[in-house]
Amino acid sequence: MPQRLPSPIEIDAAGMAHPCQIILSPNTDARPEGTDIDMIVIHNISLPPHQFGGQGIMQLFTNRLDPAEHPYYAEIAHLKVSSHFLIRRDGELIQFASCHQRAWHAGVSSWQGRERCNDFSIGIELEGCDESAFNDAQYLTLQALIQALQQRYPIRHIVGHSDIAPGRKTDPGPFFDWQRLSSS
Ligand SMILES: [Zn+2]
Repeated sequence: MPQRLPSPIEIDAAGMAHPCQIILSPNTDARPEGTDIDMIVIHNISLPPHQFGGQGIMQLFTNRLDPAEHPYYAEIAHLKVSSHFLIRRDGELIQFASCHQRAWHAGVSSWQGRERCNDFSIGIELEGCDESAFNDAQYLTLQALIQALQQRYPIRHIVGHSDIAPGRKTDPGPFFDWQRLSSS
């Protein structure tokens, strides 16, 4: 198959991506004043685990997950979490928080001596899991999104959740192809 170029994405002055579906999460707050946004954190998520295409991720990030719907939901429904972006299996991009806001995706974390990576990072979730490959459409959207973020913010680090929370987190997992980011 010929390689498709990613369709361009733009981040506007309010920190919102275009084109993009917006589902705002209440689980955000202000970044510390004067913080440079210089990191992108890549994650994977699937709800229920290893199942793709449902509404669970959107429900989790908007505090609407039904604990009765799945045993795992009962464990996590109380969590107050969010990410700036989700890239679904078909490459669709959803934004839950302005990039100017702090989203709650990294948890306890540190990178090169800096703690609390949520303060200065943008979180991108790929719908997926540690046990299977991501789709081409997801990489295309991810490449376009990273390019757009690099144009708007002084991004210096693109890391996985497992890099900033080793021992606690394993995503984006062994199937995430880092080389496909450097080719963008
Ligand atoms: Zn993660």
